[in-house]
Amino acid sequence: MAGAGSPSYLIGVIHVVHHPAYVTEAPARSTYRWGKNGAIRDLLVAEGERIAWHLPEPMPAAWLEATHDPDYVAEVLTAQVPHAKERRIGFPVTPVVATRAAAVPGGTYLAALLAMAHGFAANTAGGSHHALPDTGAGYCVFNDLAVAAIRLVEEGRVDRVLIVDVDVHQGDGTAVLTAGRPEIATYSIHAEKNFPARKARSTLDVPLADRIGDADYLATLEQTLVPLLDDMRPQLILYQAGVDPFGGDRLGRLDLTLAGLVARERLVARLARERGVPVACTVGGGYGDDVMAIARRHVHAILTLGEVLAEQEAGAFGAGDR
Ligand SMILES: [Zn+2]
Repeated sequence: MAGAGSPSYLIGVIHVVHHPAYVTEAPARSTYRWGKNGAIRDLLVAEGERIAWHLPEPMPAAWLEATHDPDYVAEVLTAQVPHAKERRIGFPVTPVVATRAAAVPGGTYLAALLAMAHGFAANTAGGSHHALPDTGAGYCVFNDLAVAAIRLVEEGRVDRVLIVDVDVHQGDGTAVLTAGRPEIATYSIHAEKNFPARKARSTLDVPLADRIGDADYLATLEQTLVPLLDDMRPQLILYQAGVDPFGGDRLGRLDLTLAGLVARERLVARLARERGVPVACTVGGGYGDDVMAIARRHVHAILTLGEVLAEQEAGAFGAGDR
């Protein structure tokens, strides 16, 4: 892949994790726009040498089972998910979808390791925050954020992880899957009236009224995230950078502009950088008919975060007190 082998010590290089299995044919009866991960990859390839590409291993079943119900993991990996669960997910879990479902959490985990080494890394998929213990939901099969966080903690790589979820939908599955684990905190800022109707309890939930715009959103994000960061002092942020708070999004009920989304990433990156906290970013929601426009919003997020965070000396990160 273009850019492979770029020297990672170059200031400003952005580490990106991608697996070919992310880009699959849409299964029949799918309403999910499957093309966006390929479009994100293509737009990042066009960035040339500033991107360093990384290929993840699929997440081993044992680590999926450390987060999800083992019966559900087996149903997915053998592509025998009951129809009622497939309806909840939003598409059938074919063998191709099953391969993708294991690759994505592997990618988020690798992005976390890269972030701890370099300050920032991005997965070109993931952010599957609605997946619950024994079923997927809302276009999510396995919860890559929870799987990665739990594995990082259980391997002793971090003592405190904060999952920051700015998708317009609440990170309900992530909250449920990480509840009772003091090493993992969850923050979700979302439209109160968006899916899911019944919300879970994150460490900190910030529900927003419909049609909130850039200024109110950014002020609320900063006012609520700063105290949590300073209270928890995470050693790593897993960042679900959904772009569905965008005003033109097909599903979202908020009213951010593209400039507002970019300002959001700049704010999160600045808060992390000021505290020396590495950030691993996943994709997340973003819905509409124009796949390229949505992919461009995701790529803006990755490049904006990378520009703020990847220019740091690698040694400034990952040396936090344990
Ligand atoms: Zn969403």
